Amino acid sequence: MKVYLDHASTTPVDKNVMEKMLPYFSGIFGNASNLYSFGREAKKAVDISRQEVAKTLNCKDSEIYFTSGGTESDNFAIFGYCRQNKHKGNRIITTKIEHHGVLKVFKALEKEGFDVVYLDVNQDGILELETFKKVINDKTIFVSVMFANNEIGTIQPIKKIGELCKEKNIVFHTDAVQAIGAQKIDVKELNIDLLSLSAHKFYGPKGVGALYIKSGIKMERLIVGGAQERNMRGGTTNTPLIVGLGEAIRAARESIEKNNSHNIALRDRLIKRVLTEIPYSKLNGHSKMRLSNNANFSFEFIEGESILMMLDINGIAVATGSACSSGSLEPSHVLLACGVPIEVAHGSIRLTIGKSNTIEEIDFTVDTLKTVIEKLRKMSPLFKPQRGENIHV
Ligand code: PLP
Repeated sequence: MKVYLDHASTTPVDKNVMEKMLPYFSGIFGNASNLYSFGREAKKAVDISRQEVAKTLNCKDSEIYFTSGGTESDNFAIFGYCRQNKHKGNRIITTKIEHHGVLKVFKALEKEGFDVVYLDVNQDGILELETFKKVINDKTIFVSVMFANNEIGTIQPIKKIGELCKEKNIVFHTDAVQAIGAQKIDVKELNIDLLSLSAHKFYGPKGVGALYIKSGIKMERLIVGGAQERNMRGGTTNTPLIVGLGEAIRAARESIEKNNSHNIALRDRLIKRVLTEIPYSKLNGHSKMRLSNNANFSFEFIEGESILMMLDINGIAVATGSACSSGSLEPSHVLLACGVPIEVAHGSIRLTIGKSNTIEEIDFTVDTLKTVIEKLRKMSPLFKPQRGENIHV
């Protein structure tokens, strides 16, 4: 059995999405910027996608800008707003658990003279409003807080953050890359000024995304070149991928309830079985305020990478709570920010469910995981069950 449980990393392209995209690679190949019919046909398809994104977020079509994905949208939102509006103040705020597409931009802006605050989160990975309120001063111009975390699935109190930002006249960006398809997002109701999304997280193609920019917000361009995207992002319009994004977001919007109830049923079965059947296991992230498809566990006394590899041998794909950087394994900055001890963070894995997963696959995964963990603990010098403790590991 082959089981894919890493949908937070990427999802397969839906068949319908593929079919919609295909004509735009070769048949309807025109450059969407050209005025003759070949170009107009391509532009029409791009316009339809823009409408689909706008409908999903409840904004105007003219507030959507296509990009190459989540990373570019994050870069565009943060560099674009902060550099353009530096004269208004230099304090900018984010959290310690953002994706690197956000965190590294803040690091770069620190070098440009911005006063950056990286907020702590609580042990469930949630930003507490009091923590946020304390660091707002009259120089604060910008805040970026992710909608939902890619590692532990924790969903932030976005509405409250948006309200506070509006009250204090601070521009609010949210990285919603993991949330589209799982959370209904109305940018007006939530007071969101800038929002990043990426198609490959909701059964669309890789390499395409969008940034919502509320009308009236002044931004510096990130990609300098031609006048595409209303003069905000140079580069020939990627019609096929944009068509794919449009179809994928339409499907994600229309099947949000169905997908969520499918994912929640499997996720809850997975969590329940793991926590009751595997000793020294712990769920990371908030038990309720979490994405419908996310389960992140720590297993004491063993390494996440060994679990990943042994599961892979059994045909199961999951992610770990560490990232390979410069030859050494760094424990996840997200887990550390939640107060998970380094050695426990090293023994963490993330399983993210998708719409094609089945109960049989979840049961097969838990059964395999039990055997794998038992084997690894037997080999682990760190694992010494308490005397008299009668656990089967
Ligand atoms: N932001 C979050 C929360 C993500 O999970 C990811 C991808 O893993 C990104 C940004 C980057 O998106 P992309 O792969 O489209 O650049």
